[in-house]
Amino acid sequence: MSPSPLAGAHFPRSLGEFQAWFSTDADCLDYLLWLRWPAGFVCPRCAHARAWELADGRYECSECGQRTSVTAGTIFDRTRTPLTVWFMACWLFASQKDGISALSLKRSLEIGSYQTAWAMLHRLRSVLVRPGRERLHGAVEVDETFIGGEEPGLRGGRAKGKKVLVGVAVERLETRGFGRCRMAPLADASADSLRGFLTDHVQEGARVITDGWRSYPRATAELYVHERLVGSGSAESAKLLPGVHTVASLAKRWLLGTHQGAVDDAHLASYLNEFVFRFNRRGSRSRGLVFYRVLELAVAHDPVRYRDLIASPRPGTRPQHPPPATRGRPASLERPPANRPWRTAAPHHSG
Ligand SMILES: [Zn+2]
Repeated sequence: MSPSPLAGAHFPRSLGEFQAWFSTDADCLDYLLWLRWPAGFVCPRCAHARAWELADGRYECSECGQRTSVTAGTIFDRTRTPLTVWFMACWLFASQKDGISALSLKRSLEIGSYQTAWAMLHRLRSVLVRPGRERLHGAVEVDETFIGGEEPGLRGGRAKGKKVLVGVAVERLETRGFGRCRMAPLADASADSLRGFLTDHVQEGARVITDGWRSYPRATAELYVHERLVGSGSAESAKLLPGVHTVASLAKRWLLGTHQGAVDDAHLASYLNEFVFRFNRRGSRSRGLVFYRVLELAVAHDPVRYRDLIASPRPGTRPQHPPPATRGRPASLERPPANRPWRTAAPHHSG
């Protein structure tokens, strides 16, 4: 495990510090450079460690001649938005407990179009699912809920109208309270759909706690230890599965609050990823650290094209989110933390 990043050295502690560190695009580029290549340049084609810096800011591998830039192959690839604006968007996204809506971002940054603000937030959302992230384990409550409709969801109703059926899984801690959660749209409440949700999000061998819905025995068969709690009526089952009911209602409140309910079904999965990211970091005392984590994920993520953002994937069609290619490696912080270490993180130049 790499040591934890330090406040004030690896990430800004406050808005004032943020503004002092990232006042120009060059400042932002330096920071991304350090996050992407913490131990110096690595050629994305041949993994050679030496490069020439070109006049336009790109790097040319001294071994194979491949030209690359810090932002090439990341979500900042070919962006027309200045990096200072990107960083501010990322700061607002990360530093506010409940995030920010596209409309607020447009106003805060005085961005010309709503679409630009909307697409920036969706690009940030798209990096939040870390490749190879650990699935939930231990005792895990699992249930489904409808999101998006006005009436309370009934399982028998299926996904009609504007409501989308969503799977919810929450770790139940041994002592008291809840651990991490996961949420994702489901095609339906069939055993196949629920099994897909479980294998995506819950470690095999976990104790899966559900209500009496008939699909769960088959959905959990041979992979999980299934514990079935049967109450009479929905009020009682809410008491039996307090974790999933708490998480589902927090998620619904967040969608109605921060996003004013302006979330279309096609993008619900991505909003749920953001909710899960925030919920699972609810104990983080430093919002600056969340900012650092988002950028760390962003430089390790493949480019996200606008046409991919506006495409409407049908909820429940799997795989919902193919894991981003595991290119590069996570930033290591093994070098001694100097004051603002990325200042010295320039690639090794030959010649
Ligand atoms: Zn190379």
